[in-house]
Amino acid sequence: MKSPQEILSTVFGYNEFRGEQAAVIDHLIAGNDALVLMPTGGGKSLCFQIPAMVRRGTAIVISPLIALMQDQVDALLQLGVKAAFLNSSLDVESAWRIEQDLVDGNLTLLYVAPERLLTPRFLQLLEQTQLSLFAIDEAHCVSQWGHDFRPEYVQLSILHERFPTVPRIALTATADGPTRREIIERLGLSQARQFISSFDRPNVRYRIVQKHNTREQLHQFLTTEHPEDAGIVYCLSRKRVEETTEWLCSKGWSALPYHAGLSNVIRQKNQQRFIREEGVIMVATVAFGMGIDKPNVRFVAHLDLPKSMEGYYQETGRAGRDGLFANAWLAYGISDVITLRRMLDSSEADEQHKRLERRKLDALLGYCETTLCRRQVMLNYFSEHYHAPCHNCDNCLDPIATWDGKIAAQMALSCVYRTGQRFGVKHLIDVLLGKKTEQIMRFHHDKVSTFGIGLSFVQTQWQSIYRQLVAANLLTLDMSGYGSLKLTEKSVPVLRGEQTIAFRHDPVVKKKKEKSKRFNNLLPMPNDSFWHALKNKRLELAREQGVPPYIIFHDSTLQEIHDKKPLTESEFMMISGVGQSKLQRYAKAFMDVVAKFC
Ligand code: ADP
Ligand code: ZN
Repeated sequence: MKSPQEILSTVFGYNEFRGEQAAVIDHLIAGNDALVLMPTGGGKSLCFQIPAMVRRGTAIVISPLIALMQDQVDALLQLGVKAAFLNSSLDVESAWRIEQDLVDGNLTLLYVAPERLLTPRFLQLLEQTQLSLFAIDEAHCVSQWGHDFRPEYVQLSILHERFPTVPRIALTATADGPTRREIIERLGLSQARQFISSFDRPNVRYRIVQKHNTREQLHQFLTTEHPEDAGIVYCLSRKRVEETTEWLCSKGWSALPYHAGLSNVIRQKNQQRFIREEGVIMVATVAFGMGIDKPNVRFVAHLDLPKSMEGYYQETGRAGRDGLFANAWLAYGISDVITLRRMLDSSEADEQHKRLERRKLDALLGYCETTLCRRQVMLNYFSEHYHAPCHNCDNCLDPIATWDGKIAAQMALSCVYRTGQRFGVKHLIDVLLGKKTEQIMRFHHDKVSTFGIGLSFVQTQWQSIYRQLVAANLLTLDMSGYGSLKLTEKSVPVLRGEQTIAFRHDPVVKKKKEKSKRFNNLLPMPNDSFWHALKNKRLELAREQGVPPYIIFHDSTLQEIHDKKPLTESEFMMISGVGQSKLQRYAKAFMDVVAKFC
């Protein structure tokens, strides 16, 4: 029997285990239960795939999404591992054949949808099968509070009752404590050993820009940093998804929409294109993303603020699963705060729930406004200690200066007070700047004491000041009207000048193209013809087999071929991500490309 280490190198083509992988694998092989908490891209699949290859019998992997199953099975077949899936996408005959294979012991891994697993018929089949282990992937689907809740997941505790001797492993990338506790409780895993990894994603660079012309900013970001890359653009509403997609396409980007208002067929089609083609931009609401295993998503851009840190972490987590550099870019402005607070206040939820949601939004706003290392603030939120600075977030790369905002805050708050706490930001700024607009004249606001006292700042600076005051809860938004601002308890001492306040200097908007800050381990430049030839070869092979390109080789493997230029089988074998099966299948095709260019 092969050791885990041998399997890692001969089947997967990797040199060493990452983080907790080796410990989890040994624990499972020994027949114990495990709960694995690892960030996206941490390498969870190997934790059950290798024990499945070592232990006798078939491993049953419970997975909530069809696309995800198909992907993992395709990848395993490429590695020469006997794997299959059972879900509603199969016709009766294929499903029957797979069930037969299962009972005959011909499968190393079988992926099943939870609803199928729970049928009496299938449980009966399992009774006749030798089982190596159960893997419950995306285990946070048992959580009723998360938006990935799957009622069938709750019933998975049955596995332990019916098959008490078969080891179980539950895996998730959800970082928050309450969800963890729910998984343990609902799946009956209190005896399982917990393997908790750091939730840091060191290859993801977090950046937040102040909105001024969001689409142009996005276009600029894509042009300078991701001219050929696949990525996701998140928007809050279906309408914004549609508009943004159209606009991106008009600018020559290959963008597709995804939201719950589209038909199932179109959603599937767009998702397939995103996965199977190169360089497609998916413009989506949060309806998109779960179960997207595409490893080379090079950026996640938010055009609207997510609702919580949890959401933000999960959505940005879809970038850079392959460990190569990826960008998490968010455009943020006061309008986001207004929209989200309004949505929250008008929701049907009970008061307790609303209070929780408000706290979550406030935490996210604090993250947006922070002048500290963003990674530190984020991981702190998930109760993880992180030693700053990370050198891979905007605040670390371009430290943010703060300034004493005592006087400015007094002016801004006093202007709210003097105009009766009935007006929105635009009007308040007009008053401070002494503009004689029609509205100001109508309400005689040219007569209030704050009229024209704010000329030492320009419009954008006042916007920044008001945004920061709202984010810090020194002002609240009155949702009954049109987002008019009101004072809060917290604003009184500041208004009286008894309390100082520091504002962040928002980076000045550069009109010129910002010079591209490419990361040292970024992929070869788009105009590199050798790189293109390698990518084209990969796409050609992928199309022939009807699989996504990354199933053939990951970008990181392709990059290593590009850098090391292997010309013999033994050189090719040394490339990370090349095991015996892929060596046989693809070495020749890629070495031909190398030979042509070198
Ligand atoms: P997760 O499910 O945790 O998001 P995956 O299991 O999809 O992560 O793994 C992420 C990527 O890292 C995959 O491309 C996988 O092949 C790769 N990977 C996993 N373990 C290793 C390892 N020990 N060495 C190199 N690459 C690895
Ligand atoms: Zn940082």
